[in-house]
Amino acid sequence: MATFKQLETKVVRAGTPSPRINGAVVTPIFQTTTYEYGGQTDYHDVPYARLNNSPNHRVLNEKIAAIEGTEAAIVAASGMAAISTALLTVLKEGDHLLAIDCLYGGTHGVVTKELPRYGITHTLVSGDDPAAWKRELRPNTKVFYAETLTNPLLQMPDVAGIARFAREHDLVSLIDNTFASPINFRPASVGFNITLESGTKYLNGHNDLTAGAAAGGAGIIDSIKRKLDHLGGTLDPHAGYLLNRGLKTLAVRVRHQNQSALRIAEFLSKHKVVSKVNYPGLATHPNHARAKELLAGFGGMMSFELSGGLEPAERFLKRLTIPAVAASLGGVESLIIRPAAAVHSNLSPQERAKSGISDGLIRFSIGLENTDDLISDLGNALP
Ligand code: PLP
Repeated sequence: MATFKQLETKVVRAGTPSPRINGAVVTPIFQTTTYEYGGQTDYHDVPYARLNNSPNHRVLNEKIAAIEGTEAAIVAASGMAAISTALLTVLKEGDHLLAIDCLYGGTHGVVTKELPRYGITHTLVSGDDPAAWKRELRPNTKVFYAETLTNPLLQMPDVAGIARFAREHDLVSLIDNTFASPINFRPASVGFNITLESGTKYLNGHNDLTAGAAAGGAGIIDSIKRKLDHLGGTLDPHAGYLLNRGLKTLAVRVRHQNQSALRIAEFLSKHKVVSKVNYPGLATHPNHARAKELLAGFGGMMSFELSGGLEPAERFLKRLTIPAVAASLGGVESLIIRPAAAVHSNLSPQERAKSGISDGLIRFSIGLENTDDLISDLGNALP
């Protein structure tokens, strides 16, 4: 689509059927399970909602590929459906994968608990240690799995180095780009084979559906689509309609969240009871230089600790009036949570300690509320 050059145009226009279906400017909800059979000879082409080929799927697949700058993309029922299906597509019994050692909890569960049941082994490595990557490489290593910004500590691994290392050693490189969103970073631009997104978060942006996506070359995405057809993690057409609506404002939302989060991180980092702020936009962040070089914005996510740890953190959360204390992120409503109690509670205390997730750590997803209102709410709630 030569005329859809810039991200703001792509999020609105890419993927819209041409000609439009009955002239509809907005792609309607195709609330039908099945379609008249048109002589298709490949099972995967039969027009049927679980086979990921409804107009609601097609518009999203094309739009997300355009935004990510990849040949193709496939939407799924959740971020975890996209992640687990992609991993099961590129790995088979007897294979080994390298993965960064601070994985999102759900992915950590798939890599460390589910994949071993299929005879797939792993080694968790620092995202910043090429010597360790080389040391842990085995003849059966097939995949390197990374995240652009880690959850909840907002570390940024050496993503360009990981993509290069994977290329040099014939590994398929996958990256979860959920925290950055394709507005701030498009991993295909540094050579990742498969980009994964939880559409539940920034892509949709309204805290009202679950979705996921994988983007990459046409061949690998077709293989993921075929696996998804079998495993069944298909996006429902109604959620697909909502996701398409949410995507249209992705660029303006994320740019606002970038600005708001930076101001909030600066406020928190100067506050006397805040002992640590993890936000890649702060000059004090260990990966600030890398984030500045590779990201168009530092994102709307941060985490922080209060002096005194757990008890003051719990009191602070109870006193807030704007952010909801809830899991998830990336939506218009600000959400705040203590990961050790919720989203990372499936990790053992030892695993959390090893990953640097203290019991008092607070993760904050900045929404679209007024930045001054958020700062004053935080200021009132802090001890
Ligand atoms: N990746 C990251 C970084 C996440 O934070 C999450 C969910 O919190 C997921 C993937 C999984 O997404 P979903 O809940 O849509 O399955």
